[in-house]
Amino acid sequence: MYGFAYHRPASLTELKTLVDGVEDARFLAGGQTLIPTLKQRLAAPDAIIDVKGIGGLGAIERRGDALVIGALATHAAVAASPIVRQAIPALAMLADGIGDPQVRNRGTLGGAIANNDPAADYPAALLGLAATIEATQRTIIADDFFTAMFETDLEPGEIVTAVSFPIPRRAAYVKFPNPASRYAIVGVFVAEAAFTTAALDRLQVPTDGLNSDLHAGAFYRAHLIPIMVKRAVQLALT
Ligand SMILES: Cc1cc2nc3c(=O)[nH]c(=O)nc-3n(C[C@H](O)[C@H](O)[C@H](O)COP(=O)(O)OP(=O)(O)OC[C@H]3O[C@@H](n4cnc5c(N)ncnc54)[C@H](O)[C@@H]3O)c2cc1C
Repeated sequence: MYGFAYHRPASLTELKTLVDGVEDARFLAGGQTLIPTLKQRLAAPDAIIDVKGIGGLGAIERRGDALVIGALATHAAVAASPIVRQAIPALAMLADGIGDPQVRNRGTLGGAIANNDPAADYPAALLGLAATIEATQRTIIADDFFTAMFETDLEPGEIVTAVSFPIPRRAAYVKFPNPASRYAIVGVFVAEAAFTTAALDRLQVPTDGLNSDLHAGAFYRAHLIPIMVKRAVQLALT
């Protein structure tokens, strides 16, 4: 039996009141990770707080030199957005390559980065573009946000409201996908840098900290990274 309370706040103020009164709450956005996690009994929260009713969190807009995408923007919305396609086409391409149409129509930017799966696509873009994460209490730079596998700097009860991406002169994303899920075995996002593939000839990646799982070992991932970086730079140059 599931034993959690279900809440659907209509505003961030209402959300704050709810989280202040709950010991262990999980947020429901697209549900693409949370629902399977609950079904497998890997999480047993006291409360599920459905954030999809909070207005304004799905907006996509250009603010000066930055592209700001709301946490509830689905991958499909990011992929199809003329604003994203014009400002950072590599980001639209990344979103278009996530999972399958069902996942893209439900999964959200906020959920993807809060989950911080090492095989997810968005974290590479946030790091590559030096994005800033807007959370309910503060802003966090991407380098500080992703702290460890499936871990972020978010405090309990804190939610991501938007991500601000500085618009680069050029960028590209390539991934070596798992053929079944489309999750990244290795995903590389490049922006600006010294844009010649020759500059990467001697790039060697140590295995330290790289994921080893049934999909690929750390040595295989370390071998793939320079190859994928070269492909990303080549793509950005075209
Ligand atoms: C079959 C399949 C294939 C997939 N393939 C890919 C892929 O190729 N690449 C890829 O990157 N991803 C992939 N995904 C993941 C998917 O893209 C979702 O983005 C991801 O599952 C989480 O997003 P969500 O909106 O569904 O979040 P949920 O499942 O609703 O939530 C996930 C977690 O994030 C927290 N959370 C949600 N929103 C917020 C918020 N705004 N602030 C703080 N915390 C929040 C929740 O509390 C929960 O712990 C795949 C998923 C499936 C099921």
